[in-house]
Amino acid sequence: MTALNEPTIAADEPRPTRVEVDLDVLADNYRVIAAHVAPARVMPILKANAYGHGLVEVARVLERLGAPYVGVAYLEEGLRLRQHGVRLPVLVLGGILGSQIPRFLEHGLTLAASSVDKLRAIEEHAAALGRPATVHLKIDTGMERIGVHWYSAEALLEASLRCRHVRVEGIFTHFANADAPDLAHARLQLERFAEVLRFYERRSLPPPLRHAANSGAILQLRESHLDLVRPGILFYGARPSADVPASLPVRQALRWLTRVVFFKVVKAGHPVSYGGEWVAPAETRVVTLPVGYGDGYARAMSGRAEVIVHGKRYPVVGRICMDQIMVSIGRDSAYNGDEVVLLGGEGDTAIPIEQMAAWAGTIAHEILTSINTRVPRVYRGG
Ligand SMILES: *Cc1c(COP(=O)(O)O)cnc(C)c1O
Repeated sequence: MTALNEPTIAADEPRPTRVEVDLDVLADNYRVIAAHVAPARVMPILKANAYGHGLVEVARVLERLGAPYVGVAYLEEGLRLRQHGVRLPVLVLGGILGSQIPRFLEHGLTLAASSVDKLRAIEEHAAALGRPATVHLKIDTGMERIGVHWYSAEALLEASLRCRHVRVEGIFTHFANADAPDLAHARLQLERFAEVLRFYERRSLPPPLRHAANSGAILQLRESHLDLVRPGILFYGARPSADVPASLPVRQALRWLTRVVFFKVVKAGHPVSYGGEWVAPAETRVVTLPVGYGDGYARAMSGRAEVIVHGKRYPVVGRICMDQIMVSIGRDSAYNGDEVVLLGGEGDTAIPIEQMAAWAGTIAHEILTSINTRVPRVYRGG
């Protein structure tokens, strides 16, 4: 059978490749995590365009669900939420420059204070602008990324008690190994954090909101849940690593879809794509799809990736190009315009994020954040 029929691409679909996000699935995932960690509350992490799902759209769902907080990595992500009218409390988790502080204060974004100097700078800006700052103190208990070291945290906590224009609302740390099978280092980090928190006990002060748990710790280390948890990848329905059991019924909210744009027959012995690394072992039908590493479909998956056409898996053959990939469908049929699932799907034939991560030699987080803005997002539910 050849494929001479007309493509069936809708008029409002300028490009057949798109990501479909089911906002109801994200809402369910939020509820599943909230029930698991209660009485701790949930601060979903929306950095990197909500792990590719769409920053503003996801934040609006969380606002309706009554989430107490969301976290992002960078100031501009917080600003984008405010520009779109999202009023939820937003913690910017990453490191900051002094020159950025006024923007935080103007837009009511919560700062991570990661050293005595940064805290002082925040206090000075808040005093000068006459706008109180809200901060969460960042304690480094063993990640060595940002934050004051646990062994010198007392000075930061002391300084925070003296600030007049800064409200210390939270205190947090981040695990380096909460997604590992061996939790010894995560437990050590948690002990160090507990040691820092004794500062408040010694002074009979109530501690600010305490938080530490990323997805790995939510799944594996109940004693780390404290007052708030910070799920990223788990909220989006994937596991943080292959070592962590899938013990919560979260679901993948995102599907990456495309359509066949070309069909041909490749003769036995003929190579396909750059480098000619794949040679058709026998005559086979091959379809071409308009997606490639320029969209975030990792070139490293060449020779490993599969796609789903009509509910059945087929191999991507030859090297992945910037904008196109070729798929061998053997003696089966596919027509121009037929839908193809690159990621996600249903039932036995789904391609889970974790599987694509294994093909690409990376983690689920990088798969989701690599699907770039050239791929339009389409929303369901919400
Ligand atoms: C990214 C991040 C998280 C979420 O991590 P996941 O592994 O995706 O759950 C939590 N906290 C901080 C500080 C982060 O940077």
